Amino acid sequence: MKHYQSDVAVIGAGLAGIVTALELLDCGYTVALLDGSPDGALGGQANDAFGGMLLTGTAEQARNRIKDSPELLLADWLRAGEFQADDHWPKAWATLYAEQCTPMIYRWLIAHGIRFFPSVQWVERGLHGNGNSLPRYHIAWGCGRGIASTLADALTQHPKAENLQLLRGHRVESFEQNATGVSGCMGVTDYCLTGTDTNTEQFQFTVSSDNTVVCSSGINGNLEKVRQNWDTCYDPPPFVNAWSAAKALAASPSVFSKKWRQNKSRKALVGTVSQNCAEPWMAEPKPHREVLRRVL
Ligand SMILES: Cc1cc2nc3c(=O)[nH]c(=O)nc-3n(C[C@H](O)[C@H](O)[C@H](O)COP(=O)(O)OP(=O)(O)OC[C@H]3O[C@@H](n4cnc5c(N)ncnc54)[C@H](O)[C@@H]3O)c2cc1C
Repeated sequence: MKHYQSDVAVIGAGLAGIVTALELLDCGYTVALLDGSPDGALGGQANDAFGGMLLTGTAEQARNRIKDSPELLLADWLRAGEFQADDHWPKAWATLYAEQCTPMIYRWLIAHGIRFFPSVQWVERGLHGNGNSLPRYHIAWGCGRGIASTLADALTQHPKAENLQLLRGHRVESFEQNATGVSGCMGVTDYCLTGTDTNTEQFQFTVSSDNTVVCSSGINGNLEKVRQNWDTCYDPPPFVNAWSAAKALAASPSVFSKKWRQNKSRKALVGTVSQNCAEPWMAEPKPHREVLRRVL
């Protein structure tokens, strides 16, 4: 069994985990950053994300003569959000985001090397009064993958990088606890190796830490829970993989199925699958990539 020790264990190396680790390194802490992703990539979902951000009061808006402010953003948000009287936390989040997105997100990202397209886009436009009254969608150069790789580089090239233990292929399965609370975590390495018995001690690890931060993306790390909580307004929840999704959709009267009927070659279908992978019903990037690899 492997043992690691750090001031803080950060579980999940998506954007949330990378940003947490960067801030902790800045403050002089030792950090163990763990990620169980089978492909070992840093950045999690951001590698497949579009990479646009809702921001207000930016240099890009000013250059495009868009006069925005936190107050205007909050007013749009409160109107579009249709909050109920007891929606305390959603309102608090909207208020914090509107007030702090420029210093805490925009300036932070600029300071860490992220740049944005000069034009600012409309998103969730308030055509009927409900939505953004101004363009606020800022697209990062390199899009989602650009954000992920720039921040991953900032992490590995951090001046205090010697304080970082980057533990790829380490999937956390439980927390360690003592009398005062959580004292670390434990799990398995290389759990994705097919045909390998990861129950054996050689694959197990523990991390002892004063503090543990979970950045594993909430229920998004568990596809079964995502399906259980799927909003029915998006039609049925995603299928097991893109290939079975494609076959099932071929039976439905969608644009996708038209393409399927018109062009039945496997390669054409793969092209269509790649183009449509950002749709909510296809939002399973890793099995999707695996299927593409096999089909190609
Ligand atoms: C197709 C797509 C398009 C998107 N477009 C946009 C957009 O334009 N703008 C926007 O703001 N957002 C967008 N998003 C959403 C955005 O990408 C995510 O909200 C964000 O990347 C989530 O970051 P995260 O760090 O919280 O979680 P994740 O990126 O999910 O990272 C969680 C990490 O934790 C790891 N992990 C999970 N469980 C364990 C465990 N038990 N042990 C160890 N590691 C574990 C996972 O391997 C993963 O690397 C998009 C998402 C997708 C999928």
